[in-house]
Amino acid sequence: MNTVEPVNALVFTPHPDDAEFGVAGTVVNWIREGKDVVYVVCTNGDKGTSDPNLDPAELAKTREEEQLAAADMLGVREVVFLRHPDQSLEDTPEFRKELVRLIRTYRPNTVVTADPYRRYLWHRDHRIVGRVMLDAVFPYARDVHAYPDLYQEGLEPYKVREVLLWGSPDTNYWLDITDTFDIKMAALACHKSQIDPTRVKEMAERMRERHRLMSADSGYELAEGFHREELFR
Ligand SMILES: [Zn+2]
Repeated sequence: MNTVEPVNALVFTPHPDDAEFGVAGTVVNWIREGKDVVYVVCTNGDKGTSDPNLDPAELAKTREEEQLAAADMLGVREVVFLRHPDQSLEDTPEFRKELVRLIRTYRPNTVVTADPYRRYLWHRDHRIVGRVMLDAVFPYARDVHAYPDLYQEGLEPYKVREVLLWGSPDTNYWLDITDTFDIKMAALACHKSQIDPTRVKEMAERMRERHRLMSADSGYELAEGFHREELFR
């Protein structure tokens, strides 16, 4: 039997730090509204360095700690680490089932990840997570006969209501992060192995401009933009 409390949003982040870039301002808004958020970190990020002397296993450990600190700052209920090696993800039946298991366990209203259909240069892990997540949402999480063994375990079919994709070339939905931009930046700054602490201020200025431009005609001062798909209305 599945005894896990349902969650408002399940965020699939390919690497530690992507969710902070993509959706952290919105995550804080949801949490302030009393809605739970759970993160799923798909890879361990162990190739995220240009230092040949840095041990990948050590880096993976550091990045988990950084991700936990960032999630804690935002108020995320739980962080699930899948610990696949960085740059290793493939669109396999095993990975798809792993994501279906999580969707059926946490029963989110909204699933969030990277848009897999961003053209040309885009991290392969982002493309794979986005694509496999979309397949997991529909039809695999929905259909009882897709995984008889999961059903036997008590993980019943589940219909996600909404998918939000960050980094999209086809943004059609904006959420106001004017009041949560500063905490988004503070959470990003937790990723010290990725963001040089001496350059956080400079990055915050760049990010402010990015989210100002991203807000487009939404009327918000600062926004996170997504491609949104609504399902099963
Ligand atoms: Zn990434």
